[in-house]
Amino acid sequence: MKRVLQESAPTPIGDGVPGASWPIDESTVGPRNKSDGLDVDSGVSILDSIVIGAGQAGLSASYHLTRLGVSHVVLDGDAEPGGAWRHRWDALTMRDVHGVAELPGDAPPPRDEQRANIAVPAYFAAYERAHALPVIRPVRVDRVDDEDGTLIVRAGEREWRSRTLVNATGTWTHPFLPHYPGMETFLGEQLHTIDYPGPEHFLDKRVLVVGGGASAVQFLGALAPITDTLWATRREPVWRTDDFSPEAGAAAVALVEQRVAQGLPPQSVVSVTGLMLRPQEREAERLGVYERRLPMFARIEPDGVRWADGTFERIDVILWATGFRPAIGHLAPLHLRSAAGGIQLDRRGRGTAAVADPRIQLVGYGPSASTIGANRAGRSAAKGVQKALASIPSIR
Ligand code: FAD
Repeated sequence: MKRVLQESAPTPIGDGVPGASWPIDESTVGPRNKSDGLDVDSGVSILDSIVIGAGQAGLSASYHLTRLGVSHVVLDGDAEPGGAWRHRWDALTMRDVHGVAELPGDAPPPRDEQRANIAVPAYFAAYERAHALPVIRPVRVDRVDDEDGTLIVRAGEREWRSRTLVNATGTWTHPFLPHYPGMETFLGEQLHTIDYPGPEHFLDKRVLVVGGGASAVQFLGALAPITDTLWATRREPVWRTDDFSPEAGAAAVALVEQRVAQGLPPQSVVSVTGLMLRPQEREAERLGVYERRLPMFARIEPDGVRWADGTFERIDVILWATGFRPAIGHLAPLHLRSAAGGIQLDRRGRGTAAVADPRIQLVGYGPSASTIGANRAGRSAAKGVQKALASIPSIR
């Protein structure tokens, strides 16, 4: 299993930064916004803004910053366009995804049989080119410091300076793995969602899928018809049988907003939307895999898992579909977190500015952690940046 965060670990685990050169190799910089007068090569000029992350949220923010004439660069940890979609498993097609919203000013990518990890990156790449967004990659930001009112964004030996920041780093690089006693003794295979190699890998293996989210439901849908599967979750799943209407979506987002308004860590989307079965999961449903859901086991043993009442199940593979956490460890030096453990956002959780420091915008975080939410948040963040810049005239 690679790159997985354990419950006790406080910081995210990201990809290493393949050694991009600095001064910038121009081939890694998207066509520049000519009006912005950037001196991105020097590393000493102060930009009006920096966007970290070039997924849906970061591209939307960059589009709106460009329209507002705000000088900025987008620093992205990946070697090529696509954000988290580049890393989704091969078996996931555009028909399987819940839906990828359009980027601002564009049409959405088609819902067809193409692989999502090809179609969305191609869509993002074309968008970056069409709008000449100033994306620099690969740049994996390690930390952001505040030095006398200037934000210093550091990636290894390189650094950028800015007056404001839009954080759009998503969650994919911060997979979450709960800790269970004995897990290091397990002789079988342990995989996280980020490692999912497709259904064929699991043939003839007894697979325990752990987690109560949409990914677990989808994995069971693919695996139950071809191999022996078990499912364990911490809580009883909440199933939706009605259509997921825009009103239901808005109500779910409002619940996450309430948490973010209080500075609590955001919940997963599924915890507020409930789970749905799609046609792709009907065969697994018919086989009864969802009905046979088990509570969480107490410990892991070399050959399987054991429940508190002594029940034992032999297992070959544990597939941890246990989700992700916001990839915000690099913001720690800015002390944005509230005592409740999350970052409180303005406008009662509906905005994108950090209450602790309105120069910092968070997009794709909490209520905007969906492609449609990320899109809207990009616009709000660009306006937030403009407002913050107006309030710091002394350093403009
Ligand atoms: P990302 O797409 O994750 O982009 C973040 C970018 O930031 C990446 O390019 C990454 O390399 C970069 N980055 C991270 N850390 C750093 C750093 N320190 N320095 C520099 N760069 C960094 N949402 C939907 O709306 N529809 C769906 O169908 C859907 N399906 C999903 C399926 C799965 C399995 C998962 C896990 C999530 C799904 N989501 C879906 C939620 C989805 O991830 C978000 O909606 C959206 O893609 C997130 O966009 P983003 O821009 O916030 O983050």
